[in-house]
Amino acid sequence: MSTAVPLVDLAAQQQEIHEEVMAGLADVFATTAFIGGKPVGEFELAYADTTDVAHCVGVANGTDAVELALRGVGVRAGGEVIVPANTFIATAEAISRIGATPVLVDVDPEHLLMDPDLVPAAITSRTQAIVPVHLFGQVAPVERVLAVAGDIPVVEDAAQSQGATRFGRSAGSLAAAAGTSFYPGKNLGAAGDAGAVTTQDAAVAARVRLIANHGSARKYDHEVIGMNSRLDTVQAVVLNAKLRRLPAWNERRREAAARYTSMLADVPGVRVPRSAEGNVDVWHLYVVRVQDRDLVLRRLNESGIGAGIHYPVPLHLTRAYAGLGRGAGAFPVAERAAAEILSLPLHPHLTTDQQDRVVLALREAVRSAPAR
Ligand SMILES: *Cc1c(COP(=O)(O)O)cnc(C)c1O
Repeated sequence: MSTAVPLVDLAAQQQEIHEEVMAGLADVFATTAFIGGKPVGEFELAYADTTDVAHCVGVANGTDAVELALRGVGVRAGGEVIVPANTFIATAEAISRIGATPVLVDVDPEHLLMDPDLVPAAITSRTQAIVPVHLFGQVAPVERVLAVAGDIPVVEDAAQSQGATRFGRSAGSLAAAAGTSFYPGKNLGAAGDAGAVTTQDAAVAARVRLIANHGSARKYDHEVIGMNSRLDTVQAVVLNAKLRRLPAWNERRREAAARYTSMLADVPGVRVPRSAEGNVDVWHLYVVRVQDRDLVLRRLNESGIGAGIHYPVPLHLTRAYAGLGRGAGAFPVAERAAAEILSLPLHPHLTTDQQDRVVLALREAVRSAPAR
């Protein structure tokens, strides 16, 4: 009798860090330093170091991080921000919350990342930023986006790419600023919501810190209308413990991804993901493409395999963004991908036995799907 194979396994992660986290939390409660304090400062320094940037500002979640990074580089109400049609909705929400408008572009058919060749046609006099998204733990070709951006700031959405590099440089360090998320299921996850903005630019970091802390650098001196988006001290304790393990955990993700790729090579009807040249990806998700995806997914789920879809509906076809007025057919690559993508269980604690079961179940599910 085989047990289910979950998409992610947070319990296994928790076991590795349990004692260290409990000791850190005991300290937080003993000193009642619940906002700011030593763990937050330590984490910001360590995460800046990991990401090869001069500044890291811890914030409340990844959506805030993207919003704050955008505001930090000057995005305002009435502006436009270019984003890929294929991303988690939070990228667009961050833009809308500023009062700016997301302008979508299609993705490339191989990696499903923002296609830099489509960006120039989307630029208008109101464009205030461009946001490549490092989806699935890949690194988007930011240097090609920068090449077409001119003076328009580029802001990375690095929520799925902690620890990934492109031509030796870290995701989150490649443009004017980046927002990242430490949602529990991310490669680096907190025990609740958390996020961060990374940047090389001291002025951008200072502006983000100001806005995130009620618009004040000094208590009760409010320079701008800000918000409350701080990294909780409790979350910083968890993140410090997990950050030390991130390189090893990412390495295990890479090993598991390589193993899937070799095991699936001879399975007809399954297209495996491939890293772009120059990338060391961190496989936040291992996304294959199959025909009759919904049927294949149902079969996998029935055999206890926690496969999923990231994401089933491109932004322009969500009800929330119907107002953009871009209907079916507007972004054909993203739309086609949404019908074919399937995320297989992949996390640092996935065993080879579990992987064997996933591959066996997928082989069966694809074989029994109707031929076309
Ligand atoms: C998770 C995620 C976010 C938002 O993060 P939250 O912490 O959930 O607010 C933004 N963009 C992408 C691509 C994400 O995957």
